[in-house]
Amino acid sequence: AIDFKWITDNKDAVAANVRNRNSNANLELVLELYEKMLDLQKEVERLRKERNAVANKMKGKLEPSERQKLIEEGKNLKEELLSLEEDLQQEAQCIPNITHPDVPIGGEECAITRKTVGSPCKFSFPVKDHLQLGKELDLFDFDAASEVSGSKFYYLKNEAVMLEMALVNWTLSQVIKNGFTPLTTPELVRSSVVEKCGFQPRGDNTQVYSIEGSDQCLIGTAEIPVGGIHMDSILSESSLPLKYVAFSHCFRTEAGAAGTATRGLYRVHQFSKVEMFILCRPDESDFYHEELIRIEEDLFSSLGLHYKTLDMASGDLGAPAYRKYDIEAWMPGLERFGEISSASNCTDYQSRRLGIRYRPSEPSGATPKKGKSNLAPPQFVHTLNATACAVPRMIVCLLENYQQENGCVIIPEPLRPFMGGLELIAPK
Ligand code: AMP
Repeated sequence: AIDFKWITDNKDAVAANVRNRNSNANLELVLELYEKMLDLQKEVERLRKERNAVANKMKGKLEPSERQKLIEEGKNLKEELLSLEEDLQQEAQCIPNITHPDVPIGGEECAITRKTVGSPCKFSFPVKDHLQLGKELDLFDFDAASEVSGSKFYYLKNEAVMLEMALVNWTLSQVIKNGFTPLTTPELVRSSVVEKCGFQPRGDNTQVYSIEGSDQCLIGTAEIPVGGIHMDSILSESSLPLKYVAFSHCFRTEAGAAGTATRGLYRVHQFSKVEMFILCRPDESDFYHEELIRIEEDLFSSLGLHYKTLDMASGDLGAPAYRKYDIEAWMPGLERFGEISSASNCTDYQSRRLGIRYRPSEPSGATPKKGKSNLAPPQFVHTLNATACAVPRMIVCLLENYQQENGCVIIPEPLRPFMGGLELIAPK
């Protein structure tokens, strides 16, 4: 349910937004297809009326060949309309969401730092990166994974496995305390759902793995199956907000990622992630966006990380987000900040495509028309998503920040009860 009338009525603002967001959407083509579709709809309607008028006039005495001609004409027009509608939807998928007025306009370098917590750890010995630490502590096997699966895959071993489980379980327990419902999700989903969430399942540069011979894809994030859970439904206002926290594996082709930091666990094809997802009333989504960033910051502060929270610039938002806050943590081995989480308010971008609405419980206030109720019509919910824990980058952070001169790595206190009380990882 993309609002094409709104796009047509606001085409200058939409065009500026497409430019600001560095989007490759073709607005001209969308407007052209929409106009064509309206014309064709009128033509179909005109033909329907004409057919009825002729049928009435002839009172069933229409020549069979004449009748056949009218039917054929109608059928052809409807087919043309259907194919036009498909093209229009396809093109319109690329048009980005509108942008929050406070979002800085520009590229990556224009992001605004909202908050900085902590300072870089000081080390009195040469700092190792997570790959070296993993090697010395026997925590990963990239070589075997490369043989078995390909590059950018890995086996976790020994305490790294326990660390992954501890991170997931601790994160879930913390987020659940904030009223979120835990979920595990399907990790293969229909490509139509991937598309409705604002991801591109096809094309040369797609981040999505598709299963050949089926219409299914591997998920790049639990946001997709969680977004789909209430697809094509009308929720009651009293059920909102719906807050979910989902554990899943994520699969990404990482097409076009060459040249970015790709060493070790930093950028891989498969990883575990705990993701928060909220469906709420439109007037509450800014509020819940702040709640999500507060939960993320609490989690990363509890683990003792040095991080900064960024209000991302327009060119870095992707298509679905109205506003996006990223958190970057200090990674001493990499000697730089690296993104560990991302929290987006997608307003009604995903709900329009997924068909998720709610029925307001208050009457509309308007005087009801005769014989009609004055219940307000269903409205689209707003959706938000945020990373609670993307495991591999957390492992990078924890190993690099908590390394000791004697080669051990200290386990942050909150995780210890989830690792059988283990306080440090020591060389074997
Ligand atoms: P995104 O859904 O793209 O906002 O990513 C959420 C988080 O997942 C990021 O902030 C990273 O911490 C992590 N992440 C994304 N892509 C990868 C990858 N290829 N390998 C490891 N972690 C990733």
